[in-house]
Amino acid sequence: MQHLPLFADLKDKDCLVVGGGAVAERRTLLLLEAGARVHVVAPTLKSETLSELSADARITHEARPYRGGPLDRYWLIVAATDDHVTNARVAADSRAARRLCNVVDDPELCSFIMPAIVDRAPVTIAIGSSGLSPVLTRWIKGLLETLLPERLGAVAALAGRWRERVRAAIPDADERRRFWERVVNGEVAAHAFAGRDLEAEDALRGGLESWARDDAHKLGEAYLVGAGPGGADLITIRGRQLLASADVVLYDRLVSPSILSYARREAELICVGKTPRRPSITQKQLNRLLVQLVQAGKRVCRLKGGDPMIFGRGGEELEALAEAGLKFQVVPGVSAAEGCAAYAGVPLTLRGVAQAVLLTTGHTQDSQDSEAGVAAAEFAPGQTLALYMGVAQYADIAAALIARGYDASTPVAVVENGTTDRQRVIRTALGSLGRAQAALDIAPPALLIVGETARFAERYSWFEPSKLEIFESESAHERARVSY
Ligand code: SAH
Repeated sequence: MQHLPLFADLKDKDCLVVGGGAVAERRTLLLLEAGARVHVVAPTLKSETLSELSADARITHEARPYRGGPLDRYWLIVAATDDHVTNARVAADSRAARRLCNVVDDPELCSFIMPAIVDRAPVTIAIGSSGLSPVLTRWIKGLLETLLPERLGAVAALAGRWRERVRAAIPDADERRRFWERVVNGEVAAHAFAGRDLEAEDALRGGLESWARDDAHKLGEAYLVGAGPGGADLITIRGRQLLASADVVLYDRLVSPSILSYARREAELICVGKTPRRPSITQKQLNRLLVQLVQAGKRVCRLKGGDPMIFGRGGEELEALAEAGLKFQVVPGVSAAEGCAAYAGVPLTLRGVAQAVLLTTGHTQDSQDSEAGVAAAEFAPGQTLALYMGVAQYADIAAALIARGYDASTPVAVVENGTTDRQRVIRTALGSLGRAQAALDIAPPALLIVGETARFAERYSWFEPSKLEIFESESAHERARVSY
């Protein structure tokens, strides 16, 4: 972080603006909006607005060039002349007086910069790019302006009016936060956004009364949330909201660190990921931990790679919660098969080519399950296989599939680290898969796609960071065989 964002209270504080043109005018207006007492030093006021403000005594104007001098009576200083030497002098004098100074259009000389502002008073959003790209900050401002309700401030104002009463009614800080989260996410805010301030106030009063009567909100809850396959922007909006409201986050090893940053700063983050061939928490211990935390009143986000209900052992965790009679919600995620197929350009179904997709595995920690996974993959025309896990067993998996009726020339695509900047796609034929794995060091996490549509990984490759490697490709042969 190059600059610390602050919200300064400048009400009735003296601030100096050096310069009398259009830029000085914009800065002066902002400072006035914040309630500052603005003094302008400039030989003449070229800006009409500044002249009017001066005539109305809303600013004081000293009609003289800047001559330097002690600046310690000012809280903030803005240098907005079109003369670099003068600006540099103002900056140096400010530094000497240990006052923060903004030099318009000269980030080098600035000790503070003015952010782009989205104003939903009393809510203020400040956006900065450390002075590097005003165009980018304006773009972000535009985006936020369209996303945020016009009457956002009404909710903040309402919260301000009720703050003390809510504090008295709900002394526990964690519980109070939950109450306010419900206000912000629910009916109260919806009324306020729509301009129905009286209804909003009534709903808040009613909510507070029923909160005191009802104990249900004191119980914890588990959220089984799919984080998606890797790329941080592939989590759902609902998943992200629940993650942001959780007290504890139990996350898998494959969940990207940028997704974890959506959690609250005070939330406890616990990695419960299983690393292949390394001692780690067992599923049983994990189920117990989850149940204990929810029983202790925590809102626990169980954040899993991909989709929680696809090779995510979500079923076992739900059973533990159901058994203990606890509340839970499940939020789907983009599963590795969908994410990898999309980011590798492989249609999982395709008219005339593939009409079914089988999500399965060639390997799990339970060998019976693994066999059943491959057994389910009996050759069927028009079926695409998406095989999770089992990278080290690719040679055996390929042999087992060939024994189940697959042609050795069947196209396959392996997507390693799918949807991330490290994505690699390996195109080969089923008969070469074992050799490809060894020769190209294919490592988990990787998803294996088997079927005629896998060859489109070459034609529809679109994801820029992805690397495509062709291994002993029989593409020409495959192409000759497939027509659609
Ligand atoms: N619940 C997850 C799957 C967990 S099992 C889901 O729905 O995607 C773990 C397996 O998922 C890995 O061994 C790998 O086969 C696959 N996988 C997860 N993330 C992946 C990624 N980014 N790229 C390729 N495969 C991935």
